[in-house]
Amino acid sequence: MKRLTMTLAALASFLFLATTLWATTSPQRMFTPEEAMTQLKAGNDRFATGHAIHPNQDRQRRIFTTSKGQHPFATVIACSDSRVPVEILFDQGVGDLFVIKVAGNVMDVDEVGSAEYGVDHLGTPVMLVLGHTHCGAVTAVVQNEEVHGSIPRLVDNIIPAVTKTKNDHPKLAGDELVTAAVVNNVWQAISDLLSHSPATRVRVAAGTLKVAGAIYDIDTGKVTWLGTHPDQKKIMADAGPAEVSHDAQQADHKDNVQQDTAETQHAHEVETETVPENVEKGGMSNTLWFILILLVIILGAVYIKSKNKQE
Ligand SMILES: [Zn+2]
Repeated sequence: MKRLTMTLAALASFLFLATTLWATTSPQRMFTPEEAMTQLKAGNDRFATGHAIHPNQDRQRRIFTTSKGQHPFATVIACSDSRVPVEILFDQGVGDLFVIKVAGNVMDVDEVGSAEYGVDHLGTPVMLVLGHTHCGAVTAVVQNEEVHGSIPRLVDNIIPAVTKTKNDHPKLAGDELVTAAVVNNVWQAISDLLSHSPATRVRVAAGTLKVAGAIYDIDTGKVTWLGTHPDQKKIMADAGPAEVSHDAQQADHKDNVQQDTAETQHAHEVETETVPENVEKGGMSNTLWFILILLVIILGAVYIKSKNKQE
C-alpha cells in the first residue's frame, strides 16, 4: 500500500509539473480583443510620433511564419489608397495583420468573405474598418463624379453612406461633407459585415471579437478611434439569431475547421523563444486530454491494487 501511495504521489507531482510547464510555455495564448486593440494603438502611436520599431520584418520572421503558419491578431479592411500602408501605420510586421485592401474600404461579397477568413478561420480578436482622410473613392461619390467600367458597382457600396450624410447634415459641403461621409462609410462597412456574416455575429455575441471603426489621417499619420458601431445591437438583432446561422456556418466550414486543427497541432511544435504572443487559442484541450488519460490510468491502478488486496 505504501508503494502504491508513493507511485500515486510521484504521478501527481509529474502531472502538476507537466501541466504547469505546458501552461507557461504553450504558444496557444491569443490576444483578447482589448489587448489586440492596445497593440494597434501602441503601434500607431509609435509610427505617428516617429518612434516605429519595425517589428517582425526580418528573415527569421519569414521562416517562422512559413513553417508555423500565420496567426495575425487583427483583421483590417482599409482603402487601396497608396497613402494608407496598413502594416506601416500600425508599426507591425510579417504575419501580424490580416489586411483587406479595396477602394473605399467597402464590404461587398468578396470583402465579407475575406473578413470571415480573418475573424473566423484565423480567429483574429479584432476586425477593424479603417477609413481615411481625403479618400478619393468617397469624394467621387460625394461629388457625384462620372465613373466607368466596373467602378459604378464598387461605389454602389459607398452611396448609402453619402446619402445618409447629406440627409443628416444638409448644410455640410466641401471637405467637411467628405470628412463626415468617410466616417459614415466606415459605419456602413461595419453594418454590411455584421448584416451579411453570421460567423462574425457569433463571435461578436460571444465576446471573442470586437468589430471597430477608425479613421487614418494621411497627413499626421494618426488614427482616430471610433469604437464599435453605435447601432451594433440593432444591426445584429435585425440580421437574425446568430446561433442558428452559426450552425449552418459550421457545416459550411467543416473543411476549414479540420485544417485549423491541423494548424493548431502544428503550432504546438513552436520554440518558446520565438513564439509570438498572438497565436491560436484552443491548445489546452490537448492538455486536458493528457490529464484525463493519466487520471484514468491512475484510477485503474488503484482499482486493480485494491482488488488484488481483497483477494
Ligand atoms: Zn480612399
